[in-house]
Amino acid sequence: MIKLNIDGNDIEVEEGTTLLEAARKINIDIPTLCYMKNINEIGDCRMCLVEIEGRRNLVASCVQKAEEGMVVRTNTEKIYNARKTMLQLILSEHNRSCLSCTRNGNCELQKLAIQFNIDNLEYDGNKDGIIDELSPSLVRDTSKCVLCKRCVAVCKNVQGISAISVVGRGSNSRISCAFDNSINESNCTLCGQCIEACPVGALKEKDSIKELREKLNNKELYVVVQTAPAVRVALGEEFGMKIGSNVTGKMVAALKRLGFDRVFDTNTGADFTIMEEGTEFIQRIKNNGVFPMITSCSPGWINYIEINYPELLQHLSSCKSPHEMFGALIKSYYAEKEKIDHKKIVVVSVMPCIAKKYEAKREELKNNDLANVDIVITTRELARFIKQNNIDFINLEDEKFDSPMVEATGAAAIFGTTGGVMEAALRTVEEILTGKELEKVEFKQVRGAEGIKEATLNINGKNINIAVAHGLKNAKIIMEEIKMGKSKYHFVEIMACPGGCVMGGGQPIHSSKERELIDIRSLRANALYTIDEKSVIRKSHENPVLKKIYKEYLGEPGGHKAHELLHTNYFRRFD
Ligand code: SF4
Ligand code: SF4
Ligand code: SF4
Repeated sequence: MIKLNIDGNDIEVEEGTTLLEAARKINIDIPTLCYMKNINEIGDCRMCLVEIEGRRNLVASCVQKAEEGMVVRTNTEKIYNARKTMLQLILSEHNRSCLSCTRNGNCELQKLAIQFNIDNLEYDGNKDGIIDELSPSLVRDTSKCVLCKRCVAVCKNVQGISAISVVGRGSNSRISCAFDNSINESNCTLCGQCIEACPVGALKEKDSIKELREKLNNKELYVVVQTAPAVRVALGEEFGMKIGSNVTGKMVAALKRLGFDRVFDTNTGADFTIMEEGTEFIQRIKNNGVFPMITSCSPGWINYIEINYPELLQHLSSCKSPHEMFGALIKSYYAEKEKIDHKKIVVVSVMPCIAKKYEAKREELKNNDLANVDIVITTRELARFIKQNNIDFINLEDEKFDSPMVEATGAAAIFGTTGGVMEAALRTVEEILTGKELEKVEFKQVRGAEGIKEATLNINGKNINIAVAHGLKNAKIIMEEIKMGKSKYHFVEIMACPGGCVMGGGQPIHSSKERELIDIRSLRANALYTIDEKSVIRKSHENPVLKKIYKEYLGEPGGHKAHELLHTNYFRRFD
């Protein structure tokens, strides 16, 4: 342990603790901009400067380790002036168009400008930048970039991708992709984790609200919306509610006020995914198929395997993701049942994910030349759209999803968190293989934050090895084992985002300090587990709507019609 003094407080910390961490332990707040705990600790922005007695120069507290007997001051006039000068220099080169910026009101730079009372700027720098908007999912605006490198660190250290890096020197430095290409031509998986990490509006999702508004205003069209499990436990945060609040009823009420013709639940689609994926897994067991079989509902993960391991695509389940399956059923089964021209149906998905915007445009997902899903908006975009329409979200009375495709199980709800797809699949696979009702529906071995979780289940005397990985750096470990022929697994769940969809790249953004102090993943995931616990039906194969649609329309799970509508194929992205 190390003893030191910070702002007159004696404190003892473990060796290796930084001054910033030590100060935060005793509730002394030091401003930061480039810092993200364990991800980006580089001392670049100089906002966290502090004074150490006996040293002439100020030091960056996010990298300076505590030393025995140190006397540290965090809030002197000298420090204030140094931080303010740094902030003015950053702002002098910043495109300060707050009023038209998606981060207005949730911007770490804006908050610092208020905190340091920046009422005039003493310097004026080059505010030019490049807007890269070729990707269907992600927009980069370098005129708003403060070069904190948080995006670079997340992409490299958390996801193991390195699609973006710093190029150029000195005042010509900027974040870019290899050969200064668009991100659309890079190895980016569109996971959106860099957007979540960015403190300002330099990275954002491609906006789809304008297109949505046009569709909703066209009375010739029948506009249906569906919402993913993870959206309902995060949307409230955009309206100041506690992290992990379940706002399903208010969300449905808001969507009805926005003018959608029907409000459906993607969870119903998730139950179909389990039926199809579970059936595919059982068929692989019976027919000695390719193992491990890997889940296919995370489009960021699909992008990753197509780019990095195309030779292993046969390991992927051929199932479409839940919202695509559901979109296919809305434009076929539902359209026929309700006698609506399927060409006039517009399916809108509200997703926690930006990669789904790309996924929805994939040719191989179409049926009869029609996309299953026409527009994808993120949780953040839905919140903005609700605000633009003057809806008092907080005070809305709860409403229910529309019938007849309303039923969804607890298994579907947990799809939104790491381990959830595996747990939902096991509930169905084990019951079908053994022919016996499960004594306990929970598979807690696959829950939690660990990067790779594994377990062995004995089903009908056969050991089934399963694994769950989240975050693409962990996915790489699994894939390298498969590539080397050393994988012992039969069934693997992979989600691109660390924590799964609850932490997707389209979810509400929190500051680096909140991300450090609050376990956002757990709060959102626990809300989904509570939905599951309270559900009357907790296994996908017991969903009555699903049973009815198989009986009336699809035939057997994994059968010809189900394959036509609910399955797809993947391809090698680069030669
Ligand atoms: S990034 Fe922040 S400071 Fe810059 S324009 Fe947007 S809201 Fe304003
Ligand atoms: S979206 Fe993901 S892969 Fe692409 S640059 Fe951002 S963090 Fe990297
Ligand atoms: S794009 Fe955002 S996260 Fe990346 S360096 Fe610029 S400001 Fe930082």
